[in-house]
Amino acid sequence: MADRRGLLIILSSPSGAGKSTLTRRLLEWDADFRFSVSATTRAPRPGEEHGREYLFLSRDEFQDLVANDGMLEHAQVFGNFYGSPRAPVEQAITDGHDVLFDIDWQGGQQVRNSPLKHDVVSIFILPPSIAELENRLRTRAQDSDEVIAGRMEKSRDEISHWAEYDYVLVNNDLDVAFDQLQAIIIAERLKRDRQTGLNAFVRSLNTEFEDRT
Ligand code: ADP
Ligand code: 5GP
Repeated sequence: MADRRGLLIILSSPSGAGKSTLTRRLLEWDADFRFSVSATTRAPRPGEEHGREYLFLSRDEFQDLVANDGMLEHAQVFGNFYGSPRAPVEQAITDGHDVLFDIDWQGGQQVRNSPLKHDVVSIFILPPSIAELENRLRTRAQDSDEVIAGRMEKSRDEISHWAEYDYVLVNNDLDVAFDQLQAIIIAERLKRDRQTGLNAFVRSLNTEFEDRT
């Protein structure tokens, strides 16, 4: 057994606010993190690899997973299905790994209402302005004008769910946002009831006291 149960760290934001960038930084900062690789029915973007960014599934394969209770949560976003496969998440947190989720507000609600809710830390990332959000989507240069317009339209809806999250940060300066994200995670890891090895540790301190007398 691990000394600590892993956390389910949910990052949500309107598309383009910086979730993937911050998630990548977290994975570089601490190799113990596990990223919940979502399944999706959308087509891969250039550079995306099956099993790394997403599991790219057909609609039938996706629906089979849902029907077999294989998804912790799932939702329809931009006309495609997205979901978090359950088994790798349960294994990772049992082994004491924190799991990062890059999922939308619908998925956030489902995980917060699941039996794993006590292990959930949810973080909403806001852009510094809507003009900058659009600018980031354009400079990312992965989507057509039409897709970008669709993402911008959906942003308002996504942002309207900010108050459902435990923490909210504004990703203006990336380094500052990353520092804030680290601070949240460090503090959440230190919560007393998450440190399953504390009783034994304090007992060992008491034994040490007794040995000195
Ligand atoms: P999301 O995963 O939320 O859709 P990304 O992480 O892909 O967003 O970020 C969108 C674009 O904005 C990327 O090109 C990324 O490099 C850039 N970006 C992210 N954070 C910042 C920031 N703080 N300042 C400037 N550009 C940023
Ligand atoms: P993208 O197509 O840009 O990779 O992702 C589009 C949106 O789908 C993002 O808001 C992202 O957070 C969300 N998303 C990605 N994976 C999942 C998932 O497994 N479940 C849910 N609910 N949303 C997801």
